Amino acid sequence: MHTKIIKIDSADIDNKSMTEAAELIRAGELVAFPTETVYGLGADALNPGASRRIYEAKGRPSDNPLIVHIAKFQDLEAIAREVPRQAKLLADAFWPGPLTMIVWKNDSVPRETTGGMDTVAVRMPNHPVALGLIAASGCLIAAPSANTSGRPSPTEAAHVAADMDGRIPMILDGGAVGIGIESTIIDLTEEVPMVLRPGYITTEMLSVVLGQEVQLDPGIIAADSERKPKAPGMKYRHYAPRADLTLVEGAESEVIREINRRVCAARRAGQKTGVIATEETKGRYLADCVVSIGARHDEDAIARQLYRILREFDDTDVDVIYSESFAASGVGQAIMNRLLKAAGHRVLTV
Ligand code: AMP
Ligand code: MG
Repeated sequence: MHTKIIKIDSADIDNKSMTEAAELIRAGELVAFPTETVYGLGADALNPGASRRIYEAKGRPSDNPLIVHIAKFQDLEAIAREVPRQAKLLADAFWPGPLTMIVWKNDSVPRETTGGMDTVAVRMPNHPVALGLIAASGCLIAAPSANTSGRPSPTEAAHVAADMDGRIPMILDGGAVGIGIESTIIDLTEEVPMVLRPGYITTEMLSVVLGQEVQLDPGIIAADSERKPKAPGMKYRHYAPRADLTLVEGAESEVIREINRRVCAARRAGQKTGVIATEETKGRYLADCVVSIGARHDEDAIARQLYRILREFDDTDVDVIYSESFAASGVGQAIMNRLLKAAGHRVLTV
């Protein structure tokens, strides 16, 4: 299949391109498009055959449900069995934006879209191209991240093309995304709302808006936890570069010394080495390939660059990567969650 890549200016959307993309969605085909978090691989959410195509194109396990993207709050009412009181409060505060809510689904949503579950994940993205495509197609759009299953999520159209070229008919190229990590997921079917995936909207922000306690799914915190994560997708190794990644945590000077020791040992063993450093520390490593993920205090920049850096290591001949770790609060919690998964929970504490 030929994959058409169409550049689209978010500030001045070309109607002809949008109409072409919308027709593909209506016909049950796949279109990759930018959102503010990462690029999505979209299909008509209420068409079971279209949803199945998403799983095929990504090689995604069939028990891993899709997020349904909507353009107006009434779309949530149309697919939810009931709209919980908290959903309205959260939508007023954070939609359109990087927050996904899980609610009980009604019969209009096929199980192909929800990975067999009775609940459905719903988000209103804050990106003119995403909202434009939903509106132009007249469909609700199921869209997981537009990467091959297991690889880092795409933050640029070129990342989508690297994984999906020849597998889907169209990619809308709206440039690099703004946030760079996937949406926060909150489950509203629990008595106490529960965050199933940390993201840009933090647990503290959710709790303030709801005026009640919000839990963090214990299954996502520990690698060896007895409890499985409640979001089926969170149990898979994910976001992983091809080289072996290890996180090193501890005091800055200790971390640098330990990484350099391991870099030298790896080099003696004939391996090429990489380091994910910060602006502050990038000059102090001995590895073959040292990249800065941003200034340590600038969590937004770190989130935005993380997946690009992981992907770029795949274009090098690096065999082992060591990364500094980050504070696990605020947006840092989401950054560490993704890094830990990319590293298969391999962490060294010094
Ligand atoms: P992605 O679209 O690639 O960002 O992945 C979507 C994430 O949302 C995966 O981790 C899914 O397991 C999770 N998810 C989607 N729908 C549900 C649901 N109904 N219940 C729990 N988790 C869900
Ligand atoms: Mg994904």
